Amino acid sequence: MAKRNGPTRHIFVTGGVVSSLGKGLTAASLAFLLKRRGYRVKMQKLDPYLNVDPGTMSPYQHGEVYVTVDGAETDLDLGHYERFTDEPCNRNSNYTSGSIYRAVISREREGGYLGKTVQVIPHITDEIKAAIRSLDGDDVDIAITEIGGTVGDIESQPFLEAIRQYRHEIGRQNGLYIHLTLVPFIKAAGELKTKPSQQSVGILRSIGIFPDILVCRCEHPMAEEHKAKLALFCDVDRNKVIEEKDVEHSIYEVPVELARQDVDVFILELLNLHVNALNMDDWKTMVNTLLHPQNGTVEIAVVGKYISLKDAYKSIYEALTHGGIANSAHVKVRMVESEEIEKTGAESLLKGASAILVPGGFGDRGIEGKIQAIGYARTHRIPFFGICLGMQCATIEFARNVCGLGDANSTEFNAATGAPVIDMMVEQKKVTDKGGTMRLGAYPCTVTAGTRAQQAYGKADIMERHRHRYEFNNRYREQMAKQGLVFSGVCPGRDLVEIVELKDHPWFLACQFHPEFQSTPLQAHPLFREFVAAALKCRGKGEKREVKKG
Ligand code: GLN
Repeated sequence: MAKRNGPTRHIFVTGGVVSSLGKGLTAASLAFLLKRRGYRVKMQKLDPYLNVDPGTMSPYQHGEVYVTVDGAETDLDLGHYERFTDEPCNRNSNYTSGSIYRAVISREREGGYLGKTVQVIPHITDEIKAAIRSLDGDDVDIAITEIGGTVGDIESQPFLEAIRQYRHEIGRQNGLYIHLTLVPFIKAAGELKTKPSQQSVGILRSIGIFPDILVCRCEHPMAEEHKAKLALFCDVDRNKVIEEKDVEHSIYEVPVELARQDVDVFILELLNLHVNALNMDDWKTMVNTLLHPQNGTVEIAVVGKYISLKDAYKSIYEALTHGGIANSAHVKVRMVESEEIEKTGAESLLKGASAILVPGGFGDRGIEGKIQAIGYARTHRIPFFGICLGMQCATIEFARNVCGLGDANSTEFNAATGAPVIDMMVEQKKVTDKGGTMRLGAYPCTVTAGTRAQQAYGKADIMERHRHRYEFNNRYREQMAKQGLVFSGVCPGRDLVEIVELKDHPWFLACQFHPEFQSTPLQAHPLFREFVAAALKCRGKGEKREVKKG
């Protein structure tokens, strides 16, 4: 594609005062607006921690691990990037201090710096700049790089120095800095306070970064006086002090709010790019459906083991929201700890839910609760959707309770089981390293005609993203098929079971892949769309359900 707009421009997004301000959401919203102004945008996140990627971290530490098409295990902010911009991320979209240091140290061992002392500056900062430069290209007008962590953290210093140098090198007119900060409301004083933001901009300025735009996160609206004060003390134009108040209902309102304050216009002006018309009518219609659904609310239970942490199943919750939008319904999630089911039984915790979803996971904690939940969904004819571990548990439940294989299990949970219906993939058996070694990324799947899966996708050849080490054991396929389990999707050439479903059930489908990573608010994933549609059909049927034996 021909280059239209000169060199790739760079926007750097930093965060101040506290973490969890929603930098990723803000960056994704800006990318969306710039795309809708006709520019080709790419996004990237630089994380200062030392893990090479988040793949080895517990969801309690890090939230969900987001998997890209090319199989990188990345930060969950990349999920926001893809959902807002509908542009695919890849391996170059997420670097950590760990991956940067690893590259530099490997090069040092290979003799790449022979004779030199290897140092944070220039070697680490050069490597960071190379990561940023990897976004450049004839097909990219604007690159947005989000720096993880909070300004002032010791570990983020090399990243800040790298982005300072980067803009110096590309020229002022080709890059800009956006600082996201917190303007807290102090209840006792009844006032918003600007001092923490002034101090965090002070830290940035002391290392040579002068933010061009200040985005202020706040719970209460800012008065003119606050904006003027921040502009004066942070040396930012008054109209470039932007208020980003908590949105009332949905994160998808953020771009609408930012557009109202013309942030995208200021960005384009600062980067000397033409301000084309903004076209986001479809987005506004989507937000309107989300806020005022015609088909009311449907409650769906998600049975997992990281339920107390709302970021652990981020993409699942988002995809359910998307499924709701596609059906003009509000999806209310009932979060159920699978270990609680083990204590109290499924009925008390799942009663009244219109559908049940069991997401992915690792390790044996809570497994029996998930299996009970699936049995409850199957026998009570409640729509069920299993994802990755959820699919593995669904086949275990079916093997135990329909096929009479009492001790059916996955070798992940019981290596000595007599009926290993889920077993480690052959190619995984020789793997010893834990980082980045699962079956990761997009693989093809062929969907069988006449199945629910085919009905949802409307085609036979699909691509879906994966993150697993175990798979369905084909030794049990025939036996389970005879009892009514439909194998409706397989990976071609590899004969790996990707989708199973039940015919004689309102909607019971489980997949080995992670469809939630491909769902967007404007285009719900077909399986989530159909799952929510099935939940709506079953809404309110509650006690009248006939319980299936077996
Ligand atoms: N623990 C299972 C496996 O490795 C499922 C993984 C997942 O749910 N992402 O195969």
